[in-house]
Amino acid sequence: MTTTTTPRPAGARRAAGDQPLLQVRNLSVEFGLKGQKRVRAVDEVSFDIHAGEHVGLVGESGSGKSVTSLAVMGLLPSRGVHVSGEVLYRGQNLLEQSPKQLSRLRGREIAMVFQDPMTSLNPVIPVGLQLTEVIRRHQDVSRKAAQRRAVELLDQVGIPDPARRVGEYPHQLSGGMRQRVLIAIALACGPKLLIADEPTTALDVTIQAQVLEVLKELVAETDAALLMITHDLGVVAGLCDQVNVMYSGRIVESAERGPLFATPRHPYTGGLLDSIPRLDSPRGSRLTPIPGSPTQTIPWSEGCAFAPRCQNRVERCTAEPPALLAGEDRLLRCYNPLSSTGPSSTGPSTTAEEATP
Ligand code: ADP
Ligand code: MG
Repeated sequence: MTTTTTPRPAGARRAAGDQPLLQVRNLSVEFGLKGQKRVRAVDEVSFDIHAGEHVGLVGESGSGKSVTSLAVMGLLPSRGVHVSGEVLYRGQNLLEQSPKQLSRLRGREIAMVFQDPMTSLNPVIPVGLQLTEVIRRHQDVSRKAAQRRAVELLDQVGIPDPARRVGEYPHQLSGGMRQRVLIAIALACGPKLLIADEPTTALDVTIQAQVLEVLKELVAETDAALLMITHDLGVVAGLCDQVNVMYSGRIVESAERGPLFATPRHPYTGGLLDSIPRLDSPRGSRLTPIPGSPTQTIPWSEGCAFAPRCQNRVERCTAEPPALLAGEDRLLRCYNPLSSTGPSSTGPSTTAEEATP
C-alpha cells in the first residue's frame, strides 16, 4: 500500500509553518453493502489547502473527484459506504464530527457549488428567498437586511436587474444565471473554503467562461480558499495555485501550476494537457485525446491503473503499483515519466513536422 507522508512543495500562498486550512490525509472511500463486492472509489488521497489558496482536483469522469468532495463535506450516505483517513479542518477531524456540528460548518465555513444548478435549487421557492434563508440561517440579521444582502449578492455575481430577479423562480432563469445564484448562495456567508465541483460543466462554453470569471473574482474578493474540481485542465490553468491530478481513485501527480503545465511528468497529466487547446502549442498542431477510456484500468493492487492506456508503459507498470513519491518540485506516481526538459510530447500529432505549415 502506498501512502503520502512526504511534505509537498511550498506553494505561492504557503508560508513556512502555516497550518493548512484543510488537510486531507489518506482518505479512502469504499462502496458496497455487506456481502457485496467493495468498490474503492477513493484510495489513500492526501492533499492540503491553505487559507486563500486555490487548489485543483483534476481527472476524467469516474476518477473519484466528487466522492472525494462529498467525503470532505460529510455528505456521503452512511449506509454501504466506508470512509477512512482524516479530513482535518483547522486541525479538527471532520470525519468524527456529528451531523449537527457538520451542518453548522457547512455554509458558514465551508460552502459548495455543484454541477447541476437545477437540482441544487428548490424549484418552488423564489431564488431571493433561497438566498435570504441561507443568510439568516448562519447570520443574526433581520429579514430586511438579509433581503438587501440578497439583492447585493445577485448584483455581485452579475445578474442584471437583481431587485426584480430576487422574486423569480429557478425555472425563470437561464442555466448560467442559476449557476450564478448558486455561487451567490455559496458565498453568502463568507465561507473560508469553497468547494466547486464541475461548476461550469453543464453550461455553454461562452457562459462557462463568464461564470468562471465571476467565481474567480468573488473568491479573490472574499479571500476564500478554493477547491476546484474539474475534468478540464483548462479550467484550472488560470485559477489554481496547486493542482492534483487524479486517476482511478488515486492522485498520480501533484504540483504547483507552473511546473505542472510547463513540464507534466505523468503521462496521464501529459495526455490531459494535450487534449486541451493551449496558446503555446505550435501552430497547426492538433489536439490529441488520450487513447482508450477511463474504464480501461487495472486494479491499483496489480500495478498502475493507467498502464493499459499509457504510451510510456514499461514492464514494471503492470507488475507492482507505483508509489506517490516526492521529487524536486512535485509528487509523482510513475515508473517511466515524461521528460522533464521539454513540453509535453505524448501525442503523435504534435510533431514538429506537422506544426510547420
Ligand atoms: P468523478 O466525480 O471523478 O467523475 P465520482 O467521484 O463520481 O467520479 O465516482 C468515482 C467512482 O465511484 C466511480 O467509479 C463511480 O462509479 C463510483 N461511485 C460513485 N458513487 C457511488 C455509489 N453511490 N455507489 C457505488 N459506486 C459509486
Ligand atoms: Mg464528479
